[in-house]
Amino acid sequence: MSSNSENAQGGIRISFEFFPPKSEEAEQQLWNTVADLTEWDPEFVSVTYGAGGSTKAPTLSAVRKMIHETPFTTASHLTCVGATREDTHRVIDEFLAAGVRRFVALRGDPPGGVGSAYQPHPGGYANAAELVAALRERGDFDISVSAYPEKHPESRDTAADIDMLKRKADNGADRALTQFFFDNDAFERYHDRVRAAGIKIPIVPGIMPIQNLTQLKRFAGACGTNIPSWLDERFEGTDDHAEERARVAAEVAAEQIEDLVRRGIHEFHLYTMNRSPLVSAVLERLGIQRKAEARAGAAA
Ligand SMILES: Cc1cc2nc3c(=O)[nH]c(=O)nc-3n(C[C@H](O)[C@H](O)[C@H](O)COP(=O)(O)OP(=O)(O)OC[C@H]3O[C@@H](n4cnc5c(N)ncnc54)[C@H](O)[C@@H]3O)c2cc1C
Repeated sequence: MSSNSENAQGGIRISFEFFPPKSEEAEQQLWNTVADLTEWDPEFVSVTYGAGGSTKAPTLSAVRKMIHETPFTTASHLTCVGATREDTHRVIDEFLAAGVRRFVALRGDPPGGVGSAYQPHPGGYANAAELVAALRERGDFDISVSAYPEKHPESRDTAADIDMLKRKADNGADRALTQFFFDNDAFERYHDRVRAAGIKIPIVPGIMPIQNLTQLKRFAGACGTNIPSWLDERFEGTDDHAEERARVAAEVAAEQIEDLVRRGIHEFHLYTMNRSPLVSAVLERLGIQRKAEARAGAAA
């Protein structure tokens, strides 16, 4: 199933992730980004959801606007942490009323933040596998889930992560989108183990084009993502040279994707951070055609 045969050229299919804006300025930035990225014709886009419902209104509003005012096939992220089953059902109903038929089903981080002890709500869904089952019971939705090539920070080991992924797939998940990573060998080892465990759904690498390496390092620790030393080397000397930094960032992400394509992976989920220039630069480097170029090519 490919909604964008143009972008399937070279076998690469892409999706984009956005987060809901928290200010008027951020809102403007999001919609400018969406307008810019429309030309890449992604398979789908997704909008994150603050764990515990902290961004329910802005997520719902962004998703509604994407569904009704853009050409994007749009998924809403949804978490179940800190909510009763009834609360979660009410939220699902609100998203359904807004026209959402695709979800990224997640447990969510504990209210105390990453690393604090996770306590399932006594009357709620304990993990994403249970949330997937609940969504499946309610309708024929497209459901993505998370996967962690370098292990979820709370997980005791990769085997526990893969068990959870299997439960999510068995309960009806259509694909897994991964946490961002830079070590393609680690991804390939993980992918092999996932397939050996009998999990057949696509494992779609989450690609993070690096807008700012220093900020990313702070964030990566909490996500369990390893920052290899070669990244420091690639960005060395670019601190005061924004153009050079952007060139290196686009090169790094494009090379990562090209290497994964050589390893047989063809779908990629790009973390846009609600900014378009770097994402567009990555896609240009990959030789992916914009919609208009593809149309012009077909007409010639
Ligand atoms: C693609 C992607 C999108 C995301 N989007 C959002 C978002 O929109 N909003 C948001 O708040 N967060 C988001 N997250 C982060 C996610 O909510 C956190 O990583 C959270 O801690 C786990 O949620 P999950 O759905 O991955 O959990 P699960 O799939 O339920 O579990 C993840 C792993 O944690 C381990 N685990 C689960 N429960 C326990 C337990 N009780 N004790 C010990 N180990 C346990 C398991 O080994 C499991 O593999 C996203 C992550 C990814 C990769």
